[in-house]
Amino acid sequence: MVGAEVDAIVVGAGFGGMYQLYKLRELGLKVQGFEAGTDVGGTWYWNRYPGARCDIPSLFYSYTWSEELQREWRWTEKYAAQPEILRYANHVADRFALRPLIAFETPVLSATFDEAADRWRVVTDRGDEVSARWLIMATGCLSTPRAPAIPGVESFAGETYHTGAWPHEGVDFSGKRVAVIGTGSSGIQSIPEIAAQADQVTVFQRTPNFSIPARNTPLTDKDIEAFKAMYPQYIAMIKGPGMGFGGGSAELPIPDDEAQRKRYEELWAIGGAGFLAAWGNLLTSIEVNDRAAGFVRDKIGELVSDPATAEALSPRDHPLGTKRICVDTGYYETYNRPNVTLVNLRQTPIEAIEPHAVRTCAATYEVDALVFATGFDAMTGAMLAIDIKGVGGADFREAWAEGPKAYLGLAVAGFPNLFLITGPGSPSVLSNMINSIEQHVEWISDCIAYMREKGLTRIAADPTTQEAWVDHVRQVADKTLFPRAASWYMGANIPGKPRVFMPYIGAGYRQTCNEVAAEGYRGFTLGKVHADAHAS
Ligand code: FAD
Ligand code: NAP
Repeated sequence: MVGAEVDAIVVGAGFGGMYQLYKLRELGLKVQGFEAGTDVGGTWYWNRYPGARCDIPSLFYSYTWSEELQREWRWTEKYAAQPEILRYANHVADRFALRPLIAFETPVLSATFDEAADRWRVVTDRGDEVSARWLIMATGCLSTPRAPAIPGVESFAGETYHTGAWPHEGVDFSGKRVAVIGTGSSGIQSIPEIAAQADQVTVFQRTPNFSIPARNTPLTDKDIEAFKAMYPQYIAMIKGPGMGFGGGSAELPIPDDEAQRKRYEELWAIGGAGFLAAWGNLLTSIEVNDRAAGFVRDKIGELVSDPATAEALSPRDHPLGTKRICVDTGYYETYNRPNVTLVNLRQTPIEAIEPHAVRTCAATYEVDALVFATGFDAMTGAMLAIDIKGVGGADFREAWAEGPKAYLGLAVAGFPNLFLITGPGSPSVLSNMINSIEQHVEWISDCIAYMREKGLTRIAADPTTQEAWVDHVRQVADKTLFPRAASWYMGANIPGKPRVFMPYIGAGYRQTCNEVAAEGYRGFTLGKVHADAHAS
């Protein structure tokens, strides 16, 4: 594909990229997708570790843009497991004939803006060079797995895995001694499953996390009927101002202790991340949050037989919900198994990995396999892996050197005609991601349609408007408890990464985006390359 010209390039074939390809093709554009993996699905293609499933109920963690799709797809469980979600992604790709639009196993390496033509020139690792007016980065927020540089890790003689790049053929841990490093959502989901299979599991925990039982169940006809009955209200709700946790969270008076306890008991019995919605001020009032955190710690104490292990599993260094809340199936109970040991790295840090062991300052743990559940270079990793040059040769990595900056999380000043899907500065990872993906894809598609209709060839975020938005994103976050946690939302999991709260937690985001568009793309500069330019 050297010298090929298309109207739009979409990088990534997860739920974002697939819908974007569909929408742009519907608009009549010639589109080209590039995907590093061998197939569609993004997150659900890469994260095949045992226990992987969604933490938003599947009926909601589904596209809403096709009624036919809604009607014909039936989820089997409240929280579908990864293979089922991947089947759904594949079904979408087949149902809407998206695969022919995508070049698989083709990572995009660079993108350079040609100011004379208002076009992006994109280069892949297969040597493709393709030019397009529009470049949409559907590269994912949690798509760059990272493993810490522990001394000696390269000397390990056994098998090494990362939850975010799990082998397609699966892993059989039977008869093995397994070390799991990391206790975020991926660790918390996989540890019970690995423990049920392996001989011995040693969990190396640096920071305990709050986890709420999923109480996953098969979906019945009654559940599906109830969902269908409330679907119109659901759609009205997601298209309303409440997208993102910030929506409608007006300050409340602090409820009394008894009311709090009762509510937490109810939500614990229901299970799932809905626990965070107990009160509108759970994520802004430390008094309310402390009570909720104490409730979960009490539950951990009840679930884990050994008091010292229960205490080690009890988070005390961050408010509940300020690191992504985890949703588990039998996580805390797993520590009652005789074949599971918890190592508290706060007390006994890892010193090195040896060919057959993990060594802390206090002991050496012999293991056959190492599982890194150590997360991602979230929200910026995939974008910064690409060499992007904008107007005047502006370097994307420099533009984000102090932390990511994007107007509405959708566009970056200095990089015209490039759009981010669920970029930093949008509700993104704080929301149901499929809803946020749809909102961005639809906004971007409308914008491109508008540009073509007006014969315009360039749209660029104004630096001052972008700066004001970035400031606003920070100010809104500062009113919450989120900045108190060393979380990946803050970039704190990557040594040297700027500490900036990346997603947008304010209310009314969708409405703001709609108003920006309705006002002729307020905060953007729109133009035409030269008189004889044809709008493509
Ligand atoms: P992704 O699915 O991450 O897809 C991005 C794709 O871009 C990847 O396939 C990647 O290979 C490709 N790519 C990146 N860079 C390049 C490049 N340079 N060249 C070519 N291709 C490239 N969100 C929820 O709302 N609810 C959940 O329950 C939930 N569960 C999750 C569970 C796990 C284990 C993880 C890791 C995330 C979860 N998320 C969840 C977040 C999830 O990432 C989103 O819901 C959603 O799947 C993201 O879709 P996407 O298309 O934006 O990105
Ligand atoms: P994560 O939340 O970033 O957790 C990584 C874990 O690895 C943390 O416990 C971290 O400890 C630990 N760690 C990192 N470096 C370490 C080191 N050098 N030594 C010891 N421990 C180290 O990553 P994740 O679990 O993959 O989850 C990322 C996000 O993906 C989630 O927050 C969620 O949004 C999404 N996800 C969702 C689900 C779901 O339930 N649907 C499942 C998986 C993932 P510290 O906290 O001390 O840094």
